[in-house]
Amino acid sequence: VCDGSGKAVYPESGSPETPLEDKGDWASARALEFQKSDYVAAAEAYGRAAQASVDMQTKARALQAQAGCLMKAGRTEESLTRLAELAGDLSLRNAVSAQGTLIVPNAQLLIIKQADGITASRGDIAALRQQALAGLVSRLNDYTDARLLSSQRRFLMRELPTLATETNAFPTLAAEELAAEYLERDPAPPLDSKLQSTRLAKVWRLPSADRTMVALVREVRLSVELTALLDSLAPPDVRVTLLPPGETVALPKPIPLQDAGEYMPGWRLSLSFRDGDPLAKAAARQTRFYLWSGFLVVVVIVMLALLVARYVAAQMRLARLKDELVSTVSHELKTPLASMRALVDTLLARRYRDEGQLRDYLQLIAKENLRLSHLIENFLMFSRMERRQRRFRFEDLAPETVVRAAVDAIGDRLAPSQCRFATWIGPNLPRIHGDADALATVLINLLDNACKYTNNDKRIDLRVYSANAHVIFEVADNGIGLDRGQVRRVFDRFYQVDQSLTRQRGGCGLGLSIVNYIVRAHGGAVEVESELGKGSTFRVSIPLSMRLR
Ligand code: ADP
Repeated sequence: VCDGSGKAVYPESGSPETPLEDKGDWASARALEFQKSDYVAAAEAYGRAAQASVDMQTKARALQAQAGCLMKAGRTEESLTRLAELAGDLSLRNAVSAQGTLIVPNAQLLIIKQADGITASRGDIAALRQQALAGLVSRLNDYTDARLLSSQRRFLMRELPTLATETNAFPTLAAEELAAEYLERDPAPPLDSKLQSTRLAKVWRLPSADRTMVALVREVRLSVELTALLDSLAPPDVRVTLLPPGETVALPKPIPLQDAGEYMPGWRLSLSFRDGDPLAKAAARQTRFYLWSGFLVVVVIVMLALLVARYVAAQMRLARLKDELVSTVSHELKTPLASMRALVDTLLARRYRDEGQLRDYLQLIAKENLRLSHLIENFLMFSRMERRQRRFRFEDLAPETVVRAAVDAIGDRLAPSQCRFATWIGPNLPRIHGDADALATVLINLLDNACKYTNNDKRIDLRVYSANAHVIFEVADNGIGLDRGQVRRVFDRFYQVDQSLTRQRGGCGLGLSIVNYIVRAHGGAVEVESELGKGSTFRVSIPLSMRLR
């Protein structure tokens, strides 16, 4: 606290001496005390001086001196009583000693000090001590009491806790000491009300506008508290730090330091982002995005290239297969024609032994003829299928009709002399919805294959039964069978497991694809179960007639 000119008032820079005139009882008491060392007599003289005194200063000093002499005379309890009287007298509250210090607080400290020497069991002494302690603590904490000098207050604040351990330390003592140290080192009055450094290390001062007060703040506190305040005002992702002059900060990517403003000269603000730099993060995100996009583009290009390559390969394969088809077809057509022609020539030249041989030749011609028509039927069917021109004539029909048509068409190839062929048709079969000719073609192809791809001792079974709202046509043989890979591909166009074998047995890889096409057109399905070397079973399921479904 300063006066208007900026000179410190509290803490005070010195204490006023207030000596008393040595006269009357006071002078004789002093002589007894200091020259004769007769403390008992001195105490009595001081007592008289106290009673005779008209001003509080003399009275208080006399009582204080009397208590001192009683103490020296070993009459401690009496001395304590005097001191308690002095402390309890409200009129003496502001009396000061010759050194300018208040007498009562010193007397209270003395009571506490002396009381400790007397047995704790003395209740009246303990009460005196308690009273003195309470009075002293409240006075030391009372800053409205301008009479108490800072130097005395500091002394008592330091002293009291060492005597009365039950007293809590005084929180303002640090501030008192800082202010005293400041005045000692930096007595020049502050100029304007800006934050200013002092000669004390890391202590700053801030004068009020009228210069009647100077706040002293430690640098660390200023920076911590203002940082917390600024931080609470800043956006959540920004960290603000207030830096004292000369201090730098090692934060990740701070924004260039900013001046803290004219009221805090030299101080700077450091701004940084809490979770790294959002700009760098955005850039990283962007880069990741570009990398992924690039990657995806490459993947798409590669996939497209693969698709195109596959398509081109498939087209080339198809072209090759079509070429092969042409040669197969001409071969397949030529063979039966050539043999028929040879047979007809033989017959025309009458080169046969008897009726029996004639009949055999005619049967051979019929067989070749049959093979030829079957072949041509398949080609035509395939060509219509390719051009999607095959129209089906759907009707309700009995499954037996289809079986009969197929077996009749296949003719002698299933005769007992050629193979063991058995047909089993389930009882009361429901009618199916289909094209009788097309379904017969299906069975003809399956039976034809069963004949072709079995070796000697052929055994072929045709079973027809109903299950799950379908009629199932099952053609089983004990032939050469198919492995798993072949099973997956047999229904593909032009697919032949072994071309040399097919050459030898006739066929051009169309039969099963035609079967598949017709069955699908009927809303049915075809599947094959096969084991290499053991035989195959082809199963065609055709939906029942609409009315039965
Ligand atoms: P192909 O006119 O060559 O007989 P298919 O489409 O009818 O043509 O048959 C395709 C291939 O499936 C045949 O070349 C043959 O290798 C195989 N295959 C068909 N049926 C059978 C079967 N019952 N047993 C073994 N292999 C068969």
